Amino acid sequence: MSTVVAPFIAIDGPVGSGKTAAGRQLAARLGHIFLDTGAMYRAITYLALQKNVPVDDAMALTRLASTAGMELAATPGDECRVIVEGDDVTDELRSAEVDRSVSAVSAVPGVREVLVRLQREIAGQGQIVMVGRDIGTVVLSDAGLKIYLDASVGVRARRRHAQLRESGSDVAYETVLTDLRRRDELDSSRAVAPLRPANDAVTLSTDDLALEDVVDRLEAMARRDGDEV
Ligand code: C5P
Repeated sequence: MSTVVAPFIAIDGPVGSGKTAAGRQLAARLGHIFLDTGAMYRAITYLALQKNVPVDDAMALTRLASTAGMELAATPGDECRVIVEGDDVTDELRSAEVDRSVSAVSAVPGVREVLVRLQREIAGQGQIVMVGRDIGTVVLSDAGLKIYLDASVGVRARRRHAQLRESGSDVAYETVLTDLRRRDELDSSRAVAPLRPANDAVTLSTDDLALEDVVDRLEAMARRDGDEV
């Protein structure tokens, strides 16, 4: 029997669905490149905040994305480091400030155009697990395996809250919940590439699953899918 693995794997889902952790581990198991596209939108948002570019100035944000010279050090299963204007900004991307502004920045069509082009270039380098909001619907619409990870809003807010506390923030749970709801609403209702499952995506609820169980299921799908290629 063939042991071919799905070469292009798209994982989408809302904040706190577990897609980044699961995608990274899946990539490590399969030996695929891992690309977290959320980090790319966060990097442009971080730059905009640094340079006082208003998050409602679409032209200035598009210019910023075009000139940022973004580079991604994406290696199998590793955290994906993001370099903009020559600086590694990876450790700055998960702050509450970036969380608050990233949905506005990612709704700008010009910003998306620049980043989607780069994401497709990276996918051209080899077998990949790519994680985001529009990977199955737009970026890799031909991917052999598309997954949509989901979880109830309370579970997702608790996960995000725990992540922020671990990284030293003392933000209140209620604040995280409100922010997450706002981000869900903005990401799902924007005109360009809104968050939604692709028609041919497999939806998996992670409410009652440990991370390892999620990765086990994804790996089984990736290997089965490869058999059918
Ligand atoms: O996945 P993460 O929460 O890091 O993504 C941050 C934000 O980047 C999302 O809330 C969304 O606004 C944007 N994003 C996007 N398209 C993607 C990945 C992320 O619009 N493919």
